Amino acid sequence: MSVTKMEEMDLKNIVTKIVREVAAGTEDMAIPVEMSARHVHLTPEDVQALFGRDAQLTLKRNLSLPGFLAEERVSIVTAKGVFQNVAVLGPVREHTQVELSAADAFALGIKPPVNISGDFTGAEDVYLIGSHGMIYAKNSAIIAQAHIHLSQEEAEQMGLADRDLVRAELEGRRPLIMNNVMIRVGEGMHAMMHIDMDEANASGYDSAKRARIRK
Ligand SMILES: [Zn+2]
Repeated sequence: MSVTKMEEMDLKNIVTKIVREVAAGTEDMAIPVEMSARHVHLTPEDVQALFGRDAQLTLKRNLSLPGFLAEERVSIVTAKGVFQNVAVLGPVREHTQVELSAADAFALGIKPPVNISGDFTGAEDVYLIGSHGMIYAKNSAIIAQAHIHLSQEEAEQMGLADRDLVRAELEGRRPLIMNNVMIRVGEGMHAMMHIDMDEANASGYDSAKRARIRK
């Protein structure tokens, strides 16, 4: 074997070792997990239709990622069922979005798609009732796909990009491996996994829950 060949081999080994170490680093990063109960996001027009002319959402408390829980609450109504006192999250958005778990959807007698936030393909219609009025929120209801928020820096560190799909291993007494977990890279974000109530229950959720990414 020539010296050049040997050096090539060494280089390959070193590269392989580095790649493995980087991958191991990714796998070792424990990401906090938050459970999102059913909630709605509203357009400015829908806020006014539900809570009165000139109404704006009132901050109750900030969320761990950009956004806030509003003082305002709504009821979600279909021909089959009602959920009262549902959380409204601010700030307002361009499209009203109702996020339900599959169990919620069953109780309401609707079949929303499992979509990532902002994708209304096949979304269901529900009525929303506020303190001042009611709206027919067409094409608004989805079951949110489990996702992991990352900052740009975190994504780069982990070798991940926006909209990548990964497996996430949820730790705990009822450990669960979830497939098709979508990576969302965004400004002002930091590592945080969001699951809905069904997924939380299935994985024995508590607020100390952590997840690890398995590519
Ligand atoms: Zn989220």
